[in-house]
Amino acid sequence: MEQERFKEVLRERGLKVTNQRLLVLETIAGHPGEHLTAEEIYELAKEQYPEIGLATIYRTVQVLVELNVIDKVSFDDGFVRYELGSAKADSHHHHHAICQECGRVLAFEGDLLETLEQALYDTMGFVVTDHEVKLTGYCKDCIKRKGQENMEEFN
Ligand SMILES: [Zn+2]
Ligand SMILES: [Zn+2]
Ligand SMILES: [Zn+2]
Repeated sequence: MEQERFKEVLRERGLKVTNQRLLVLETIAGHPGEHLTAEEIYELAKEQYPEIGLATIYRTVQVLVELNVIDKVSFDDGFVRYELGSAKADSHHHHHAICQECGRVLAFEGDLLETLEQALYDTMGFVVTDHEVKLTGYCKDCIKRKGQENMEEFN
């Protein structure tokens, strides 16, 4: 049960379990891979809990970020977005590939950073505790569309 897990996470971090906090966590969890903004969380949360205010959502996400229950992500489009991250500390968090043409964000799990982290330790004695990967480029659809546009120019 997701709600039980969230209650546990909140208690573990010394946070009181409140409806607002659970609601924010459940809203984010209910939209995996979507990277919601505070405003989007608010719109979705309101459907279940009409009396909730945007200021409450702002305050709640801030507290949850400070305690690493959720992570703040930015895709350089001017919005701050949120996702469950460190709340599931056991699994490797995912990374993001952002299309600079259409803004689509693809999440991927694996990376080859273990080799790099090991090399950093071997050569400099540096122990890596966390990493963040953000790749920028073009998605499959945009490459296809760009290809077609180029073809049209030639015709
Ligand atoms: Zn993500
Ligand atoms: Zn694209
Ligand atoms: Zn990684």
